[in-house]
Amino acid sequence: MTCLEKYVELLKSNNLKITHQRLEILKYLDAHRTHPTADVIYSELKKKNPALSKTTIYNALETLQKNNLVQNLTICGSEQRYDFKDYMHHHFLCKNCGEIIDIEIACPNLDKMLKHGHKVEEVHGYFKGICKECLREKKGAKK
Ligand SMILES: [Zn+2]
Ligand SMILES: [Zn+2]
Repeated sequence: MTCLEKYVELLKSNNLKITHQRLEILKYLDAHRTHPTADVIYSELKKKNPALSKTTIYNALETLQKNNLVQNLTICGSEQRYDFKDYMHHHFLCKNCGEIIDIEIACPNLDKMLKHGHKVEEVHGYFKGICKECLREKKGAKK
């Protein structure tokens, strides 16, 4: 299986048209779990494909999000950050460096919702604080 086949299958199973941009976005988000903004995704993909338009990227992201292949995070307030959605996880935002880190903890409420027969498509747990790298730097600076 080539690395793109996985994304072709994802699009197919959601009855989505397979477009180059959609594949590239999925591939990029899967490989970069840094929760980039649409602008970052656009400028990264544009490096390989200079003819790429911003609208194409925004439209593709919207479609992928509507079909639950990609999720967007509003952890930074007004700024939208994108994430490959292969499993549900929570997020930790470092208020100092702005890094968003995946937190893999089971959500007890999710199990309750499923038991009640609801279909849950998104779970967002936002944790905010200072990451360990920033804490280490702070400590170092005090000496
Ligand atoms: Zn930090
Ligand atoms: Zn994430």
